[in-house]
Amino acid sequence: MQGMTLKPILIHPDPRLKKHCDPVTEFDKDLARFADDMLETMYEAPGIGLAAPQVGLIKRMLVMDCAKEAEGTPEPMVLINPEVTWKSEERNVYEEGCLSIPGQYAEVERPKMVRVSWQDVEGKPHEQEFDALWATCVQHEIDHLDGVLFIDYLKPLKRQMITRKMQKLKREKARA
Ligand SMILES: [Zn+2]
Repeated sequence: MQGMTLKPILIHPDPRLKKHCDPVTEFDKDLARFADDMLETMYEAPGIGLAAPQVGLIKRMLVMDCAKEAEGTPEPMVLINPEVTWKSEERNVYEEGCLSIPGQYAEVERPKMVRVSWQDVEGKPHEQEFDALWATCVQHEIDHLDGVLFIDYLKPLKRQMITRKMQKLKREKARA
């Protein structure tokens, strides 16, 4: 097995986090390796989801594992070209955070359940329903592929406050 590489995670505000990502068309070894690196980066952070643009790749690809926090075994998932094909009327609220907006959390309301279709690293199609935290996570990550962040659902004042904090954090990091 080849060693994995941790990818630096982009911090908001960054123009690459606002892009509409391109579909993945090449299902080769490089893609599989990139997916492994993304999982490793997500677990290391630690986080439960990570989208390709967060590590600077403007492609429709995400990884997630919402089982990690529980006592159960890890359930790493790689979703390529994911699309929401159905969402429930029922909604719920989770306090969301984001590896690109470290230390900031806010409640976001989304459909409680979604059905998502995607391709795996070999290009094989899959479709599955997600509920509760998994549903929130997959919607949050798919949003990243369209340049949408969870703070875009917040009131402008709150969003601006968080953005200013992140600008300050980036200035401090640049000086360090
Ligand atoms: Zn995020």
